[in-house]
Amino acid sequence: MTAGRVFEIREFTLHDGPGVRTTVFLKGCPLRCAWCHNPEGQSRDKETMRRKDGSATVCGEDWTDEALAAELLRNADIMRQSGGGVSFSGGEPLAQAEFVCAVADRLRAEGIGCALETSGAAPESDYRAVVGRMDFVYQDLKHHDAAAFRRWCGGDLEAILRNYRWLRTSGVPHCVRVPCIPGVNDSPADRAALLALAGPGATVEFLPYNPAAPAKYPMLGREFPLAAAT
Ligand code: SF4
Repeated sequence: MTAGRVFEIREFTLHDGPGVRTTVFLKGCPLRCAWCHNPEGQSRDKETMRRKDGSATVCGEDWTDEALAAELLRNADIMRQSGGGVSFSGGEPLAQAEFVCAVADRLRAEGIGCALETSGAAPESDYRAVVGRMDFVYQDLKHHDAAAFRRWCGGDLEAILRNYRWLRTSGVPHCVRVPCIPGVNDSPADRAALLALAGPGATVEFLPYNPAAPAKYPMLGREFPLAAAT
């Protein structure tokens, strides 16, 4: 039995993989992207989001793999009928790799497909263990330049590319997602470099900047980093 920490379970999602899905958002991420629109997913600690109307939400709930799988399987019929399943997002799901593996094993045993949304910022062994249990992977590539990646996301691009190169050879269906951030990675030259980095034959989705990204920072008592940096 393993335990993990989740900050949201969103049912009937349509954009995180095929069919009708439930998306599980896991707490904790080793990166700090300046445009992150889920800042409550970055820390592994429980945090309180306070709204202007005085209401508050505690972000972070602890689950065993058995309890979370049982919760997710409540929608098993509609997932199976629609060719859907469960998507693991965050935060960075690979920061809780053992837990994700345990939940995925329980879901797959019931015929439920699993998908992963990842930055790729994880040890190779964790990446391979989780990806090997997935039916589909959305792999972020946020920048093509190591120094810019470190500046804007706070991580090691080469470690992510090592994982991505393995994904390319793994046989696991996947696509690359690029969040387009004005002034950071959205010039024609940036796009060309990102396509080259993704490699020949890669499926690449360029996602528009999410204008709602700053919304949650004041609720956590934080400044939106992208605004502070530009
Ligand atoms: S990898 Fe995702 S969750 Fe982590 S800081 Fe970046 S945008 Fe946020």
